[in-house]
Amino acid sequence: MEIRAQTSLIAAVLSLAIAVTVVIRPRRLRVHWLFSLFAFSIACWYLTTFLSGVQPGDLWRRANLLCAVMLPVAGVQFFRAFIDEYTIWMSTLHRASLVMALTLSALIIFTPFYDHIAVASAVFSYLLLMLVAPLAVVYQRGRNAPSRIEGARLRYLALVGGLAATFTMADYLRYVGLDIPPVGTVLTLIFLYVLYQSILRYRLLDLYELAGRLAVLTALSFTLAFIFWVSVRVSGGGFFLPSVVAAMVVLLLFDPVRTKVEEQISSLIFRERFDFERAVASLRRRVGRVLEIDDLAHAILDGLEQSRRVTHASLYFVDREEKGYNLAGSLGPTPVQRIEIAPGRAFLDRLRRDDHIVLETVERELEELRGAGDDLEAETLYEIMQSLEAAHASVCLAIRAESGEIYGLLCLRDERLRDAFSPEEVQLLRGLTAQASLAVENSRLYQHIKERDRLAALGEMAAGLAHEIRNPLGAIKASAQFLHGPDAERDERAVEEFLGIIIDEVDRLNRVLSSFLDFARPSRGNPSAADMNATVERTMQLLGPECEAANVQVALDLHPDTPNVRIDVEQLRQVLINLVRNAVQAMERGGTLTVSTQLRARRDVDGASRRWAEMRVGDTGPGIPQKIMSTLFVPFVTTKDSGTGLGLSISHRIVTTAGGSIDARNEAGSGATFVVRLPATEDAVAQRTGAAPASAGATEGAASGAVSEGKSESRSGADTESVRTANR
Ligand code: ADP
Repeated sequence: MEIRAQTSLIAAVLSLAIAVTVVIRPRRLRVHWLFSLFAFSIACWYLTTFLSGVQPGDLWRRANLLCAVMLPVAGVQFFRAFIDEYTIWMSTLHRASLVMALTLSALIIFTPFYDHIAVASAVFSYLLLMLVAPLAVVYQRGRNAPSRIEGARLRYLALVGGLAATFTMADYLRYVGLDIPPVGTVLTLIFLYVLYQSILRYRLLDLYELAGRLAVLTALSFTLAFIFWVSVRVSGGGFFLPSVVAAMVVLLLFDPVRTKVEEQISSLIFRERFDFERAVASLRRRVGRVLEIDDLAHAILDGLEQSRRVTHASLYFVDREEKGYNLAGSLGPTPVQRIEIAPGRAFLDRLRRDDHIVLETVERELEELRGAGDDLEAETLYEIMQSLEAAHASVCLAIRAESGEIYGLLCLRDERLRDAFSPEEVQLLRGLTAQASLAVENSRLYQHIKERDRLAALGEMAAGLAHEIRNPLGAIKASAQFLHGPDAERDERAVEEFLGIIIDEVDRLNRVLSSFLDFARPSRGNPSAADMNATVERTMQLLGPECEAANVQVALDLHPDTPNVRIDVEQLRQVLINLVRNAVQAMERGGTLTVSTQLRARRDVDGASRRWAEMRVGDTGPGIPQKIMSTLFVPFVTTKDSGTGLGLSISHRIVTTAGGSIDARNEAGSGATFVVRLPATEDAVAQRTGAAPASAGATEGAASGAVSEGKSESRSGADTESVRTANR
């Protein structure tokens, strides 16, 4: 069988299959019937082409020509319904196609001139005109379409249709002696397929995806053909070996080639889409690092704003009672503040079912239902549309747990375009909401751990406070009992001594309580730009005699480029005094105290570079006792006989209130080092929660005032063990 006949038969079968698939589906609209008719006429035309090829003679020739002249009638009818354009121009075309078809049919059926070159030319011109004209209208409609995707789709359709018509017409050139390969058949089938997808899919066909797949397929087919050709050549005409070699090479090449080709196509042709893909990918990475719900809203909205693909965006999170969703943040005009679960049930049920809702899909469904007259479902769809409208959304995506619970809603719209997000882009956004739902789960877990830590810290603090109060109370009671006892036991000196004890212990109680109050009611002091080096120098001058008395050598290493920090200078001195005194007390037999400062720069979660001033206080003592390593910054944790255990917790509060962090570590065999990091003045204002220089440890602490005091007692330390806290 000749190749043209073969391809015609295949095309006839495929066109028929497409025609049948459309009519057997439920909820048929008029456009579906007309499409089916159009596909059916194409099938008939191919069938008669095939038959006239295998059985040359008058009958099939005439039948083939008849099918050809009927084709535009079905075509024009279908395109009119497809683009919903019943203008005078389209009606004229429709009428002209009918008149021409009837005239030409009469000529073909009743006269012997059907084979004449004049009739053939008339059929040819009529076909070309009647197929290309409606396609030109489709193209024009595509150019004026309000929506980007709709416009692109119509233009592509018209283009593929035009090519298909041109090449199919070129098939007729064989009648004037010009034989070209049956490219038209392949193009016609592609055209039918694209049309088929366009009328059946609720959401328009993603042309990026289609073009990408076609390109990959073409590239791979040519590669395979080439490899096959080479291996046939090399093996001298055998079949088995070349097939195996070609199959192996293709299997090896398929994935890398596909990825590469898809990337290239995205970046070269679909720049906008490529950029969006990259923006969403980087946003996903950012969301993956978020631990607080507020930061999540901030990160997502920030990232979407930077992508410049939305004009409206809003994020809602479910409330504690799970009765509705509260607005956590938005871009563009403020949408509704809250979406209640009860009135928004239809909307939320649909989200629970599908993960996302696209306004355009709902509109289409509503349109179809109007035709079918299903009022109840139409009412539901109408409610969904109203909810989308209230949230200013053309796409709404659920941030959903695996269990189905909806944690939040991400609503987007680009008002510059009606359907700004293609199915592929919605898919990308679904990846983002999946990541966001993980972040919500993590943040819930994190809050839980924080609460647990807070309660544990509170417990320790209460125990510490009780201990601090009970000791002096015991001493006061014993002294009072002594003074209250029989006269014989008391002499003047003893009375004096016990009264002194009572006064001292009351003072101590007072001190503990004021420190505690300072801790419980933190003050920010008067933050201003403070020169860290100057503060360290002045404070160390003050502490010089104390160090000398304890046989401690002081080494200062202050880097001149250490930036200024935003903090109350007195509070900064307070921190340094606490750290130095602890170090001096730890080095019972003397040693070396090193205080150094330097500039630190670090890239933050959001990619911005931040500068920090770092202050290190190191000693050559025994290091921090292992047993208190994990609770070092908890109030009342002390290993000293008369320590309050408030020095470090107060220092921690001061530093974190200023947006910085403090951490402690034991250097192997060389004592303890405390590292304080504070944001450089220019960054301190922009400093957001979560952007602290160090993370981990969730110990809470606060307050200003109170210098840690007491005698040294600390013993033994763990090597390179460290504890770290940061502002959250
Ligand atoms: P206090 O000094 O009143 O005990 P702090 O909160 O200042 O309270 O310190 C808590 C505990 O941390 C100390 O009791 C001590 O065991 C330990 N510590 C602090 N600094 C050092 C250091 N430089 N070397 C060893 N241990 C230290």
